[in-house]
Amino acid sequence: MQAWVIGNWKQNPATSHDVNVLLDDLLTAINAEEQADTEHPNSRCQLMVAPSYIHLAAVSTRLKNSSVLCAAQDISSHSASTGAYTGDCSAQQVADAGATWTIVGHSERRQYHKESHDSLVQKLSHALAQNLGVVLCIGETQTQYDDQQTLEVIDAQLAVIKDLLIQQPELISSLSERFIIAYEPVWAIGTGKVPTVAEVSKTHQHIKQKVAGLADTAEAITVLYGGSVNADNAESFAADAMIDGALVGGASLKAESFLAIANAFN
Ligand code: 13P
Repeated sequence: MQAWVIGNWKQNPATSHDVNVLLDDLLTAINAEEQADTEHPNSRCQLMVAPSYIHLAAVSTRLKNSSVLCAAQDISSHSASTGAYTGDCSAQQVADAGATWTIVGHSERRQYHKESHDSLVQKLSHALAQNLGVVLCIGETQTQYDDQQTLEVIDAQLAVIKDLLIQQPELISSLSERFIIAYEPVWAIGTGKVPTVAEVSKTHQHIKQKVAGLADTAEAITVLYGGSVNADNAESFAADAMIDGALVGGASLKAESFLAIANAFN
């Protein structure tokens, strides 16, 4: 299975200048790596970055002739195209800005923007209507982890896919091409704390079985781990067959650490 390493830049960098510096560093290092290893271009993992809305068009333009894809961090739940929704950006608008994927359901959006199950189903539907791939984030809080509720929480969060498929059964056959699941325990995000590789592996296996069951297929969906992934711990996650890549926050803001993580998954 193709590995993916995705940088979620969140509300960073602060300025367009800093975005360009990060992209300069990233593209220079990727070019150098590609030229040094022309024999194995297909063995590399797929890289993607998700800048904030304000930088999306500029970033996607700069990435156009590179191997790095561009994603939005979110899309509007209200409309796939246009409407009176102050502050929102639609799936059509982010696709027009050059994004080919969008993150949906990040725990920071669930926490700070109170995203509901129904709004997430709408977002998935709008993304797919505009041909955007979806990185759906799921994961338990510290209390839920302590109470050993991880798998129950994940099942409840994956129910958005079940409800989407009830609305649009024709999506079943292409689910694993159009969706990536990112398992991000909330307590591991930005804290330096990580679950053991064995815990992540068990949870990923559960997610793959659950999604295959929802789509009634044996085909496994790509499942990434996110939460305090860095250049030092990436190799241990990459060594596990159930972990198909990483969704990286803080360590994606420096080309060096982002590419070190990518290289662990190559
Ligand atoms: P950190 O890598 O900073 O812990 O963030 C993870 C994350 O939330 C990516 O979406």
